[in-house]
Amino acid sequence: MYSHYIDVGRLEMICGPMFSGKSEELIRRLKRTILAGMPTIIFTPKIDNRYLENHICSHDGKQLEAVPISHIEEVLEHVTDETKVIGIDEVQFLDGEIVSVIMKLVNEGKRVICAGLDKDFKAESFGQMPELLALADDVTKLTAICMKCGRPANFTQRLIGGQPASYNDPLILIGASESYEARCRLCYKIDK
Ligand SMILES: [Zn+2]
Repeated sequence: MYSHYIDVGRLEMICGPMFSGKSEELIRRLKRTILAGMPTIIFTPKIDNRYLENHICSHDGKQLEAVPISHIEEVLEHVTDETKVIGIDEVQFLDGEIVSVIMKLVNEGKRVICAGLDKDFKAESFGQMPELLALADDVTKLTAICMKCGRPANFTQRLIGGQPASYNDPLILIGASESYEARCRLCYKIDK
């Protein structure tokens, strides 16, 4: 089976706004590698404890077991020579040298599949995502559906107390009710 296959590393990126099905697409790809018997390991940032820790979840409730980590360097402690496929959810939230660690794994012949937000709530590119997208062998850019008007949505709208957040609002707000929506370019609002 896959043992006859010569390992050529590969980086696949799944990006888009919130509610575009990134985790669902990551889970779909990883379930296939697991079904094929390929040694697969999955990581999720520790800060993302929505639903269940030790799992990656899509909004539709599908889940797979994952190792929670804070720094990308922790991946290297879990990956072995036998590991063929590495899945990383919410990759934009990890600390550390994301690009160099991921490219090291790819150059060792691993298939690395990452899902993450390409833009932050300010509609600016997110951390090291642009470089990962440039270096990837394959990029899937998903769209959500605008929760205001139903057009295809490429933006993540941050709401504080139900109102669009301002550009300069702090990333972490204590005690404020905060939520997110997928929005199209017309409905996305930011106050600079
Ligand atoms: Zn809209």
